[in-house]
Amino acid sequence: MDRRNPANGLLTGRYALASVDDADRAVAGAREAFDSGVWSTMASIDRGRILLAWAELIRLNKERLAQIEAAEVGKPIRIARGDIQGAIDLTQYAGTLAFDIHGDAFDHVHGTDLGVVLKEPIGVVAAIVPWNFPAIIYSQKVPFALAAGCTVVVKPAEMTPGTALEMSRLALDAGVPPGVLNIITGEGSVVGQRLAEHPDIDLLSFTGSTKVSHDIAAAASTTHKHLSFELGGKGATIVFDDANLDDAVDGVLFGVYFNQGETCIAGTRLLVQDTIADAFVAQLASRAAELRVGDVFDDETDIGAMISESHLKKVLEYVESGTAAGATLVTGGTRVNVEGIEDGLFVAPTILDHVAAASRVFQEEIFGPVLVTARFTTDEEAISLANDTVYGLANGVWTKNVDRAIRFGRALRSGTVWINTSNDGAPQLPFGGYKESGNAREKGRAGLEEYLVSKTFHIHVGPRTPFYSTRAAVPTESA
Ligand code: NAP
Ligand code: MG
Repeated sequence: MDRRNPANGLLTGRYALASVDDADRAVAGAREAFDSGVWSTMASIDRGRILLAWAELIRLNKERLAQIEAAEVGKPIRIARGDIQGAIDLTQYAGTLAFDIHGDAFDHVHGTDLGVVLKEPIGVVAAIVPWNFPAIIYSQKVPFALAAGCTVVVKPAEMTPGTALEMSRLALDAGVPPGVLNIITGEGSVVGQRLAEHPDIDLLSFTGSTKVSHDIAAAASTTHKHLSFELGGKGATIVFDDANLDDAVDGVLFGVYFNQGETCIAGTRLLVQDTIADAFVAQLASRAAELRVGDVFDDETDIGAMISESHLKKVLEYVESGTAAGATLVTGGTRVNVEGIEDGLFVAPTILDHVAAASRVFQEEIFGPVLVTARFTTDEEAISLANDTVYGLANGVWTKNVDRAIRFGRALRSGTVWINTSNDGAPQLPFGGYKESGNAREKGRAGLEEYLVSKTFHIHVGPRTPFYSTRAAVPTESA
């Protein structure tokens, strides 16, 4: 298949579409490599050293990888560079975690016995990755699975396999043995589906839409593979009148427009206290209109292209459905034609105000540069509006009142709560969803634990206390 840059229509890559047989061969290779022990029984400190060498090779190739990422996703180069730096950080962090894989010991079980709990690699892992952050999401999975001693089959998104292929090649150069890391490009409905059904995979880690996660769970239902899901979101950002409002304006813009809104953790719902709502929305609108849309290779560009023509249409249809349901279009809402670029799939940064909580734009993931706004009066109202969604990935609150900040941190039903920041994270901080946003945790120690399974040694010490008493033999009657 050919991949064209959605920000200018130019060819960026040509990739193989793998078949079901290819998927089976990749799994067989990963299974053989796992069972051989070449990776799973290597000293974990040596695995860690190889991961650190891999991170260094990614660093040496950072600009080349960022160019691929920007071209395939149609994202601004400034963001793509940050993504590759994120991949480096995650790979280094996973390498250091490998140094510290350990189980647990329980002394004096029943008084005399010894219990030892080992942490073993879970086995063969399938990693299915979406198109919005191809390098980062690959790196939230693959280095952690490798650190644990697993072998892996990766299925990148069909439209954006470039950085996954290149980083996997660098893993070989860094010393990951052949067969340990396998990558197949192709369609989710073909090879992704096969990975979900495959009996030889021990864990499938999926990042993508909630809808596809249900298809995967159904396809996997005749096996007992572990399923890790990182899914969609509909994050709320709550702004109080006691916040630093200049910081909040920048934070809200960054939260919703970063990566042109194609971000699972985007703060797409703004909940603003009614005392400041009009002024706050006006300020957001004037700043949103200043954002630069267009050439993704220009360092100054803020907003890139939608991933595909059909996705662009879907985003614009959402905006229409919002105004049809009574929302006010404050800014944007249209396709943007950028001078000098013929085939760019650009949407203007958009704000809808006075959005009803029951409307589709408030409830459904739009995955584009669209902010929907509602107002609240009381704290209770803000909490209930924020939690009024099937999703629970990340929410944020802007306030200088510490009691309020902590209270909201506790009350918001999501795996991440930002306080006076947005779209933030770090390799050591676990990440994942509540509710329909998923069941897994990536990054942090939790991100390693996903790929480990425990085994218990129960070691009896000293003489056995018989369970059955020895009885005198019953004389048999002689004939
Ligand atoms: P998607 O359509 O669900 O696809 C994700 C991956 O699954 C792709 O590699 C896709 O392959 C594959 N796939 C599709 N159908 C499949 C099937 N039946 N069986 C197995 N695999 C299948 O999601 P997307 O459009 O790429 O990404 C956007 C979604 O990802 C949004 O909902 C976003 O919120 C979510 N996301 C979540 C996180 C998180 O960490 N929670 C992070 C980023 C994105 P193809 O490319 O061939 O379709
Ligand atoms: Mg898809």
